[in-house]
Amino acid sequence: MKLLTLPAALLTLQAFAQPQAPLPVDGSPDTWRGSATQSNDLVHTRLDIRLDYKKCYLYGREQITLHPHFYPADSLTLDAKGMEIRAVVLIKAGSELPLHYRYDGRSVAIRLDKAYKKEDNYTVRLTYIAKPNELELNDTSLLKYNKGLYFINPDSSEKDKPVQVYTQGETENASVWFPTIDKPDQKTTSELRLTVPAKYVTLSNGRLAEQHDNRDGTRTDTWKMDLPNPPYLFMLAVGDFRIYHDHCRGKPVDYYLEPKYAPYARAIFGVTPEVIDFFSKILHYDFPWNKYAQIVVRDYASGGMENTTATLLNEYVERTPRELLDAYNDKGQVTIVHELFHQWFGCLVTCRNWGNQAVDETFSEFGDGLWAGHRYGKDAEDALRDQDLQAYLGNAHAATLPIVRHHYANELDMFDMVTYYKGSNVLNMLRTYLGDSAFYTGLSRYLHQHAFGNGEVQQLRLALEEVSGLDLTWFFDQWYYRPGHPMLDVRHDYNPSTGTATVYLQQTQEGELYRIPMAIDIYCNGKVERHNMWLSTKADTLSFRTATQPDLINVDAQRVLVARITDHKTMQELLFQYTHAPLYLDRKQAIDAAMEQPDDPIAQQILMKALEDRYYGLRLAALHAIGKDDPIVKAAIPVIALHAQNDSNTLVRAAAIGVLGGEKNKKYIPLFDKALEHPSYAVEAAALLAIDRIDHVAAVNKARRLEGDARGPLATAIRSVYVNRN
Ligand SMILES: [Zn+2]
Repeated sequence: MKLLTLPAALLTLQAFAQPQAPLPVDGSPDTWRGSATQSNDLVHTRLDIRLDYKKCYLYGREQITLHPHFYPADSLTLDAKGMEIRAVVLIKAGSELPLHYRYDGRSVAIRLDKAYKKEDNYTVRLTYIAKPNELELNDTSLLKYNKGLYFINPDSSEKDKPVQVYTQGETENASVWFPTIDKPDQKTTSELRLTVPAKYVTLSNGRLAEQHDNRDGTRTDTWKMDLPNPPYLFMLAVGDFRIYHDHCRGKPVDYYLEPKYAPYARAIFGVTPEVIDFFSKILHYDFPWNKYAQIVVRDYASGGMENTTATLLNEYVERTPRELLDAYNDKGQVTIVHELFHQWFGCLVTCRNWGNQAVDETFSEFGDGLWAGHRYGKDAEDALRDQDLQAYLGNAHAATLPIVRHHYANELDMFDMVTYYKGSNVLNMLRTYLGDSAFYTGLSRYLHQHAFGNGEVQQLRLALEEVSGLDLTWFFDQWYYRPGHPMLDVRHDYNPSTGTATVYLQQTQEGELYRIPMAIDIYCNGKVERHNMWLSTKADTLSFRTATQPDLINVDAQRVLVARITDHKTMQELLFQYTHAPLYLDRKQAIDAAMEQPDDPIAQQILMKALEDRYYGLRLAALHAIGKDDPIVKAAIPVIALHAQNDSNTLVRAAAIGVLGGEKNKKYIPLFDKALEHPSYAVEAAALLAIDRIDHVAAVNKARRLEGDARGPLATAIRSVYVNRN
């Protein structure tokens, strides 16, 4: 699941700097939550469903085949939230035997006709009505996430809004729309027969086995999922969608969009086959399912949901080609990639309990970075990982929670910046420590060992240990089961008489010490030497013989450590680092430090160099820093004017135009006018605002001309011009 906002106060996962939600609690944070007791196991689920758009009800008839897990069982409890249960019968030798049951609004307890042994399959049939809009929760703020089944504009009362129905199972909300054992460690094959108005399209898991015209204005679609799948990853979606058919490795890849976005299906989703191919190769595990479909729906509470073979996506994914011009691996594409990686980590191997959901979400978040690195280069991967890491480090409460934990108030609390942001960076650290080959072979082993079943973090550790031959208990204990992260203070000095550079490393965090493998790069005499070290004590002192005083001592040279590091580098060292060290974070650290001291001439040199950085994100950072500071702007204007005209990245171009606009100089008007003809909304918006600062009347006239096709930043800019009273 890619979340927009999470229902947990300060810990709220703000995937893309969304506002935070208040803290709702529907349980005690002190309650121990492990795996559910497995009395019975699901084998096959057959659903016959009809939708009532007037009442927002779902009429269901369900046939479930199960068997006892180990011990004989004479009863069965199914989760069934907020339903009306009409009948429960046992299907035996072709006849129906009514069963005694008790229903309390949350679950239905069924007395079977006898005690069954684990070798014995039995089948029950339930007739029920699901009433998602009448669901009662202790905390109503959770309803947005926990309704299970969503009717969007069911009475067509909202103009220009499509009528849609879709489900959202994670975490335990599938049982709002069908009775089941709603736990992640249950897996069942399925058949879903869905009767809908004939004008609508349907989507569900697996293959569309049959379509039957009922000749009464309705059609019945039968979807079959032949591989075991947990109930929370069951899905259905119904509405007016256009389907674009693509393919990958001989399997169908389908994109379901609102009709108006259908012409852009390929522009929006066309990357999908390439991502499937990339993940299949890197994991040494082919895409495990018969097809992959993505569907975009309205009013979806999260960013996306990895329902097996049928991912549901927030409408922010739908964009026009002009909007896509300004999208550089933005949240739309990141969400597409995130849900795709879940088809292995989450769908194929599912967390055994929510306390271990790290085996799902840390991977998907990690997968976003992998794809960014593959497609856009290492800088893009490092930028994405750093964005996550900084969000985690910036939240004091997040440092109090371990990645794997069994005390939480609500299952959704597990979907936070600890599991997503810290977790994905911890995986990246593990990849660096083991090396790519051992790491991916270990992941492949974990996937093969637990395919169509469940996994916990310890099973991931074992798979990686089996492959690498290394003991990893220390790594998992300190990173997965302990909260927080190391705080490192780094100082160094040089003794010219002995030719010795000494590095003093101190772990200043409270509590236990960390064992840290780390690369230290020493730059000296035009050469760089790497030293691979282990830190394990509170204060480590490392000495290195060097011919002259080093230009730079770069601690955590691979830039992967999940830590807060204070390294007291001088601006001169940072300038050297910006120019000579190879990684995105080497350059970003120098730029960040330079932004803090804009009056320092060396800092200004760093910012001027950063205007030409190879990664657009750092060019943007430099422009924002320089734009705020008059003395540097004057010197930088000629370079900025070139970026305003020629930068290959539209966001950088827009930012450069923004800085030029601040000059309020008429000589740039031809440049701004030309920019107004650029297809990028961001470039047009910046140009319009720049003109407005010089000639308001002209800007108003130009805004009127642009109104016809204005979205995103251009729409905002036009509004701003109209209210501008200058
Ligand atoms: Zn996810």
